[in-house]
Amino acid sequence: MARYVFITGGVVSSLGKGLASAALGALLQARGFSVRLRKLDPYLNVDPGTMSPFEHGEVFVTDDGAETDLDLGHYERFTGVAARNTDSVSSGRIYSNVLEKERRGDYLGKTIQVIPHVTNEIKDFLKVGADEVDFMLCEIGGTVGDIEGLPFFEAIRQFAQDRPRGECIFMHLTLLPWIAASGELKTKPTQHSVKELRSIGLAPDILVCRSERMIPQKEREKLALFCNVRLDSVIAAYDLKSIYEAPLAYHREGLDQAVLDAFGISPAPKPNLTRWEDVYDRIYNPEGQVRIAIVGKYTQLEDAYKSIAEALTHGGMANRVKVNIEWVDAETFERTDAATALEGFHAILVPGGFGERGTEGKIKAAEYARTRKIPYLGICLGMQMAVVEAARNLADLPHAGSEEFDHEAGGKRFTPVVYHLKEWVQGNHTVARRVDDNKGGTMRLGAYTAHLTEGSRVAEIYGTTTIEERHRHRYEVDLTYRAALEEKGLKFSGMSPDGRLPEIVEIEDHPWFIGVQFHPELKSKPFDPHPLFKDFVRAAKEVSRLV
Ligand code: GLN
Repeated sequence: MARYVFITGGVVSSLGKGLASAALGALLQARGFSVRLRKLDPYLNVDPGTMSPFEHGEVFVTDDGAETDLDLGHYERFTGVAARNTDSVSSGRIYSNVLEKERRGDYLGKTIQVIPHVTNEIKDFLKVGADEVDFMLCEIGGTVGDIEGLPFFEAIRQFAQDRPRGECIFMHLTLLPWIAASGELKTKPTQHSVKELRSIGLAPDILVCRSERMIPQKEREKLALFCNVRLDSVIAAYDLKSIYEAPLAYHREGLDQAVLDAFGISPAPKPNLTRWEDVYDRIYNPEGQVRIAIVGKYTQLEDAYKSIAEALTHGGMANRVKVNIEWVDAETFERTDAATALEGFHAILVPGGFGERGTEGKIKAAEYARTRKIPYLGICLGMQMAVVEAARNLADLPHAGSEEFDHEAGGKRFTPVVYHLKEWVQGNHTVARRVDDNKGGTMRLGAYTAHLTEGSRVAEIYGTTTIEERHRHRYEVDLTYRAALEEKGLKFSGMSPDGRLPEIVEIEDHPWFIGVQFHPELKSKPFDPHPLFKDFVRAAKEVSRLV
């Protein structure tokens, strides 16, 4: 059975727990171990699928169709291990399972309580798939002391107690604030945070301390003494220019060694870090730059497009260029002169989104890219809007639009070239949905196969004609308009295996114009950039050379 590392946070949130967990996963892999990462989120939503991207950042979708926290994206990008439905859980999900069991009578008349019913449910979640890997890394969202987090902390305490000694360790991430007036790094908040942990029965084995300054030996000793951890288990986490340096930085600080020591694994297998050294070299030694505009709706919070930004960075690494992303608010863009706002960009990306707001801006961006022959990548809604633009301006359908917007406004304003999908085939069964179904999880979600036209640009980019990509949407491009659009040069070059759902459109007579109904960004890794992003950035690099 796997050894468990529980990762908790203290002092403040947003310290990079997810990144530390992901980097540790990568380092354990570099030493030859297999890993799986898991996230336990204390919030009460059943999953983040219904949360606004402004609140919670991007929703990361797994192959098996779960809508999960964006930290799972970090896990995948650093380890290459595809996350599953069973790798993410929230209080909402736990309570909903417990209540469902209670209604079914599974508890045989017992009084249902946080301990043991809720904690048992959490422990069951922790155990899934434990036989498959050497290490299971479980991150608890939020910070110690949060009311919602208590059942999770209690559950991991019990879990470690139930297991043979030495099979679970605890890693705690905190902040050492720098007080400029006295010129000191302060350890007191960390001491308090550890005290809080110990009061609920958890003693950290490893302390990871975020700090903007070098942590002097004296402070390390103080932390070790007052927090009851070994000196070599006080690990500094300094700010990095690129997150992809994290595995090397944590290795330098001795994190993986400290973890293996805490488990008593000796001698520790030597790490092979060539993958991360290559990533480092590509990130820090680019040979040029490209400017890419993302015309989107959630531009105030960059985390809303986390995986897209990362996938572009990976594409840049593959082409040895630095990708400078600039955010263009789709709504403001509607009222701006397109040429003024988009002049000078080497490529334009229109990402996914929900609702009508900002869509006329996205359509305008697609038109600009098409007519000015600037590389264009439309993702999900970005593909749908490229189709709407072509329908309006090339196929003589001036009122082309998406049924999504009419549905929202409750009228009939558009010719629906994008329609609400009510039934589709997944594997060998049919899935059906109604317009007024619950919002949670009612989309076409997760991995679906697509067949690419032989000889198309996308087939060439992928190097194959069968692909599998992740989806998260309710609406589909209507095949009714296929012939008219293809005649004008917008080819449907990727289709679902039954030929009913358009997956990819591309313009042949254009340097690079591709729209995809799925989310390729979710599968890109720094050491294995997604082919579409790799080629999109290559096309941007071409443009940058011409200007
Ligand atoms: N709103 C669109 C749909 O549901 C696009 C979704 C997306 O971009 N992820 O089909």
